[in-house]
Amino acid sequence: MPSDSPAANAALAARYFDGQTSRLYHVTLGVRDGMAVLAGDIERSCPLGELHVSERSSHAARKVSFPDGAYLEIADQAAFSELLHATGHRDGWVVRLQQSWRGAVLATVATVLALWLSYQYLLPVVAKGVAYAVPQSVERQLGQGVLDFLDQHVFAASQLDGARQQALRAQFARLATPGDSTPAHRIVFRKSRIGPNAFALPSGDIVLTDEMVALMPDDLAIMGVLAHELGHLQQRHLTRRLIQTSAVGAGAALLFGDVSTVVATLPPLLLDLKYSRDVEREADDYAIAMLRRNGIPLEHLAQVFVALGKLDEGTPYLSSHPASAERVARIRAAQR
Ligand SMILES: [Zn+2]
Repeated sequence: MPSDSPAANAALAARYFDGQTSRLYHVTLGVRDGMAVLAGDIERSCPLGELHVSERSSHAARKVSFPDGAYLEIADQAAFSELLHATGHRDGWVVRLQQSWRGAVLATVATVLALWLSYQYLLPVVAKGVAYAVPQSVERQLGQGVLDFLDQHVFAASQLDGARQQALRAQFARLATPGDSTPAHRIVFRKSRIGPNAFALPSGDIVLTDEMVALMPDDLAIMGVLAHELGHLQQRHLTRRLIQTSAVGAGAALLFGDVSTVVATLPPLLLDLKYSRDVEREADDYAIAMLRRNGIPLEHLAQVFVALGKLDEGTPYLSSHPASAERVARIRAAQR
C-alpha cells in the first residue's frame, strides 16, 4: 500500500483553520492507514478519500479541505507533493495538462479544432435558420443597398435594347412558374466594368451583365444562367453568407479581442472554398430541375460553364461560381 511507504508517514507542518473562526492552529499532517492525521494545537483524523486537495499552482500554498469546511494550508509544496504522490493522490488532468508544454499545445489544437468544427458544421446551420427568418423587407433593403453601391462603382446602364431585355425576361418567366420553389425575382440588366457576371441579390434582383449575355452561345444557355441564379435566391445563399461572415467577425472579436481576430478569420477563409462548391452544387441542382421540368436539354446549362471555363482565371464570375470540368461533367451526367 502506498500509505505504508516512509514518505507517507512523515509528518508535515501545516496551518489549520476550522472554517468558522479565524483562529490559526499549528499542526502536523501525517498519513496512516488511509487516514490523514493531524496533531499539535488540535487533533483530528479523516479518511483521505473525503479530503479535497486544491490544484497545484506556482505560487499559492496548497489547500486541503475537510468535508465540514475546515482546511489546511501547507507552505512546503515540494514536501506535500511528495506526500501526495506517496499516498497515490493524482492531480486533476487539467492541472497536469496546464503544467506541461505538450498539454498546452494539445489544448490549443483542441480549441482550434472546436472552432473549426463549429464554423464548418454549426454556423452554416445557424446561418441558414437565421437567413430564412430575416424579414423580406430587410432583404430588400440589403439587396437595394448592394445594387446602389454597384451602380455607383461598377455598373453602367445596359446597352441591350429594351425589346431584347423584354424577350429574355418573358422567356424566363415562362420557365419559372410561380410556386413554392420559385422565389419572387426581377431580372436586372447592366453593363459591367468587371466582365461577364450574373448574381442574385437578397432583394430578389438577378443581375445579368451585357457581357454575360454576349458570352452565352444561345438564349437557352442564358436561361440556364438565370435558373442557376434563381437557385441561389431560393436557397438564400447570399443572405446566409452575409450572416456567416458577420457572425464569425463578431464571435471572433468577442472571444479573442484584437490580437487573435486575424487568426480566427483564417479558417473561415479556407473553408469558404469548400462551402462555395457545395452552394454552387445546390444552385446547379435547382437549375437542372427547372430545365428538366421545361424539357430543355441540360447541355445548354453545361455550355454556360464551358463558355465560362474559356475565360481568364482572374474573372470575378469564375471565383464566385468556379467553372470546372467536374461541374460540366456532373450536369451532363444528370441528363442521362
Ligand atoms: Zn453560382
